[in-house]
Amino acid sequence: MYSLPRMEKERRCLNCNSPIYGRPDKLFCSDRCRDNWHNIEKSLLRKSRSAILGILEKNYGILISLMKSECRRWPLDLVEGLGFKSDYFTRISSGKRGGMVCECFNIRYCVSKTKIWDIGFISIPLQDRRDLRL
Ligand SMILES: [Zn+2]
Repeated sequence: MYSLPRMEKERRCLNCNSPIYGRPDKLFCSDRCRDNWHNIEKSLLRKSRSAILGILEKNYGILISLMKSECRRWPLDLVEGLGFKSDYFTRISSGKRGGMVCECFNIRYCVSKTKIWDIGFISIPLQDRRDLRL
């Protein structure tokens, strides 16, 4: 009985796609490619964080402006029309009447598929105040 020669799958550098030779756990063809790839990853992560923070800050500003109005309940499509992105928040838990209780930094609000209501500031617990050195 003959066995076929074991074909090693050709590995390619994550950064430049050149073939990789040597240790089986090698991911890059060179130190330069490894460093370049990690720098790009860090840069993408920084940009992604910055974009998410920007969305949260915009949501925060919209929530503040809603709190200043006389109204206590708003149609979600109207609020999203202002640029509010309801799938971005800093904390979420299930709420009453089919809604969710969300937080955007120190603002808490209830949201369902059709409306947003009960927007208000939350107090920061004493332990968290200590952690933040407030
Ligand atoms: Zn490479």
